[in-house]
Amino acid sequence: MPEELSVTQRAVLAAVCETLLPEIRRDDDPAGFFATGARTARTAERVERLIAQLRDPLDRTRLRILLTALGSPLANLVLSGRFAALQDMDGHAREATLRSWAMSGIPMRRAGFQALKRLAHVAYYCWPVDDAGHPAWRAAGYRGPLPPPGTPVEPLPALEIDRDSTLDCDVVVVGSGAGGGVVAGILATAGRSVVVLEKGPNPGSRDMTQVEGEMLGALYLDGALLMTQSGSLPILAGSCVGGGTVINYTTSFPLPAPVRAEWDGLSGLSLFAGADFESSFARVSARLGVGTRWSTPGTRDAILERGCRELGWHVDVIPRNVTDCKEGAECGYCTYGCRHGAKNSTAKTYLADAARSGGRLVPRCDVERILIERGRAAGVVASVEGAGRARHTVTVRANVVVAACGAVNTPALLARSGVAGPALGRGLRLHPATAVAGIFPDRVEPWTGGLQTRYSNQLADQTDGYGVMLETAPVHFALPASGFGWESPRQFKEDVARLGNLSIVGVLLRDRDAGRVAVSRQGLARVHYELSGFDERHVRAGLKGAARVLAAAGATELFTLHTPPVRVRPGERGWLERFVADCDARGYRRCRMSYISFHQMGGAALGSDRSRSVAADSGEVHGVRGLYVADGGAFPTSSGVNPMITIMAIADHVAHAVLGAS
Ligand SMILES: Cc1cc2nc3c(=O)[nH]c(=O)nc-3n(C[C@H](O)[C@H](O)[C@H](O)COP(=O)(O)OP(=O)(O)OC[C@H]3O[C@@H](n4cnc5c(N)ncnc54)[C@H](O)[C@@H]3O)c2cc1C
Repeated sequence: MPEELSVTQRAVLAAVCETLLPEIRRDDDPAGFFATGARTARTAERVERLIAQLRDPLDRTRLRILLTALGSPLANLVLSGRFAALQDMDGHAREATLRSWAMSGIPMRRAGFQALKRLAHVAYYCWPVDDAGHPAWRAAGYRGPLPPPGTPVEPLPALEIDRDSTLDCDVVVVGSGAGGGVVAGILATAGRSVVVLEKGPNPGSRDMTQVEGEMLGALYLDGALLMTQSGSLPILAGSCVGGGTVINYTTSFPLPAPVRAEWDGLSGLSLFAGADFESSFARVSARLGVGTRWSTPGTRDAILERGCRELGWHVDVIPRNVTDCKEGAECGYCTYGCRHGAKNSTAKTYLADAARSGGRLVPRCDVERILIERGRAAGVVASVEGAGRARHTVTVRANVVVAACGAVNTPALLARSGVAGPALGRGLRLHPATAVAGIFPDRVEPWTGGLQTRYSNQLADQTDGYGVMLETAPVHFALPASGFGWESPRQFKEDVARLGNLSIVGVLLRDRDAGRVAVSRQGLARVHYELSGFDERHVRAGLKGAARVLAAAGATELFTLHTPPVRVRPGERGWLERFVADCDARGYRRCRMSYISFHQMGGAALGSDRSRSVAADSGEVHGVRGLYVADGGAFPTSSGVNPMITIMAIADHVAHAVLGAS
């Protein structure tokens, strides 16, 4: 049981929440949004629960230290020039104190502010506060969760485990996402006895409530609370049966030819540019029904397209892995799972194939370590949640173990299991993403429309194949709560209240320079990652490009995700020069501007050289027979494009290598 906050820490937390989300009286507030503060919404209590849910005890400790510092008159005197505990200050002094953290020259203080700001805003905006929903949702014209569809989609059949157990099979697959799902489906269909162990739950459409806070907690890795160690980058990934493919945006790009050639060169393999790998792409794309039939642009993507066309820039249609998409019904909400079953996740495709062929699936099953006996994989040991949340130990004996926990958790699992090597956990890429927001005279409702249907690669090759893609994303309240920059409590609410008329152009960086996954004493993955100067230059050009696109599409006002945001009005004299100059003045590094990672890659790379890679061409880990890697961890560098289909192609390749070897 995580340690509770002390009475003082709880008082400080309440003061922080009420400072960031005060009750603001104003005449034009028909929804009561400004008048509803953290106190009414019981935000501090929810933040405390979120803190208790943080997986890594170090993250909880850091937050407790931060609250203790803010509650200490002496620390406040040294850091912010006020000899008082935060909870004893008046509103003005509290806000000034928090601002001094937000704008501090010390990265750790900025990170502390951002952590509290993010938790408070997510806790406030992402759950209903009254029977009718949330005053913020009403202010923006957001309907909130929609009524469930008439025909529910059932979860996959799963094995229930109610005591310590041992299972035997040919292949045990750890993780059921883009990589694990594909391997399981192919091997089970080929007649192998397959067990899939998945840490997350096994949702059917009835579990997809569309309450953002609930869905982040249920379907996302570590409740969507995972951060890089310096606090500069939240890491979003799926964690449920189907992994990221259940909650992702369905963008289905093949790996570009130049990246394939680059990967072959770097890895020393003749794999990625070859005909066999191309066949893997073709097979997974066919199984997923990838196409452009359901890529009708919503208003968000129409804006991206219009802006690019006005500028004479590249813009094109995004292929997607959906079938019979009920366009207009709930599109945009399916980042919390598609309740119509139109999204061809691995749960709907490959894992369903596996189930039909006798594959066994165990959800809520966290694999602790791989059993390695005399240099060969022999199975895994896992902890599974049974009825009444009781935990049991499951041992699965198998000749083949496939690690497909995603690029953050696969290196940690391998390290926990005694696999070592200089490349393990190294080479982690995160495709950091940021955005420019534009306000439009007409309604945009950025939470609606196909998840992603248009993109521009105009700025994708700025230096040696590195640069940024421009894409949009569905914007409900969690992304603004987490990502919008901050200058004052009132301004933050003003920005959120205009969400219905807002669109974004996202800047998705192909990062050249890597971070790493380290493993704590308890065996938890810890991500170390900072943006390099090389990569930062491409973000800078991306922001300028995104601003130009939004302006060309008719935005009347733009703001960035800096703290404080850069704000400009397109059309005013010198607006673009001022935009760039203000961005430069704020900078692009640690906690100056919000980034999010949607794509994690590398850390268990394929390659021929054991000092620079973790696994061979077949996906088999160097030096451990029968242990394979088949997920985003296998990438030699970042893909530059959204990685799901490439991960699946690698998984298809690995599955065929396993079939060939046994
Ligand atoms: C919001 C969002 C939108 C995205 N949109 C797109 C998109 O449109 N197109 C695209 O190409 N990519 C997209 N991505 C990225 C894409 O979904 C991922 O890159 C992809 O799913 C990663 O595949 P994977 O197999 O490496 O890991 P995952 O799909 O993340 O699967 C790993 C699974 O392993 C499980 N696991 C972890 N540790 C353990 C353990 N110890 N024991 C058992 N199970 C474990 C996890 O719970 C998880 O379910 C998006 C990601 C997000 C978060």
